[in-house]
Amino acid sequence: MSSTIPKSSDIDVLVSEVGPRDGLQSIRRAMPTEAKNRWIAALAASGIREIEVGSFVHPKLLPQMADAEEVVHAALKLPGLTVVALAPNGKGAARGITAGVHKLSFPVSASHQHSMANIRMTPEQAIEEVRAVCAMRSSTPGRFPTIEVGISTAFGCSLQGAVSEDWVMEMAAKLVEAGARSVGLSDTAGSANPVQVKRMFRRLRSEIGDHAGAAHFHNTYGQGLANVVAALEAGVDTFDASQGGLGGCPYAPGATGNIVTEDLVFLLESMGLKTGIDLEALIAARAFVAEALPG
Ligand code: ZN
Repeated sequence: MSSTIPKSSDIDVLVSEVGPRDGLQSIRRAMPTEAKNRWIAALAASGIREIEVGSFVHPKLLPQMADAEEVVHAALKLPGLTVVALAPNGKGAARGITAGVHKLSFPVSASHQHSMANIRMTPEQAIEEVRAVCAMRSSTPGRFPTIEVGISTAFGCSLQGAVSEDWVMEMAAKLVEAGARSVGLSDTAGSANPVQVKRMFRRLRSEIGDHAGAAHFHNTYGQGLANVVAALEAGVDTFDASQGGLGGCPYAPGATGNIVTEDLVFLLESMGLKTGIDLEALIAARAFVAEALPG
């Protein structure tokens, strides 16, 4: 829906690959840096235009992401690729800015319990952190990446249970006011249903207009692609997905992987929506994961 980096007009839907971040962070074993770089290059070569390549989280917490700088550096050389990295706080954001990412994504959780477990901040503190990072932007003109926020547990939380929809909308408005370019909704627990998805994304659009961002769905209860169709009907045109469905959340008990990029591309293309991605080449990129992380 919104992205300050202009999307080419030859695609209808932007598929944002999150496997190298969301996928790999859920696997204990670290993928060697060279293997990550080869995988990301193969994904980009298949026509994927945006990849979340890593997370600027403290290496003690997620040793799998300790090479984020190197991976960003390699990814920035790939022509036409929008390089995204996640930053859980201001420190991580500063690392991302120095590394030169195009976009920084912030996970801000609507659930108090999930927020504390994930980033050790309340949702309110996380919004202030986004504000501080956006303020940092004004002091470093020309170098600063676009700030995207995904509101995690927007559709429910496996720790806290129900999450108020009004609260999610209030957060979205506050985040835009704090300086976020786009705010999307993430179904971290994978419990969303299509009716809820359509309602929430419509509300999001009416609340924050073209600041409304990407949909991030997990497949825990098999609802992922049904939720994609519902989100498309609500006007969403950017979807996160992970090759082979890698991923989960260490702080969302029971959550399984993201929606599968290959399935998403197949669905969209078969519905007549252009993604710019060559499915054969995308499937071939799986070999780089299988080779580096057998099993
Ligand atoms: Zn995810």
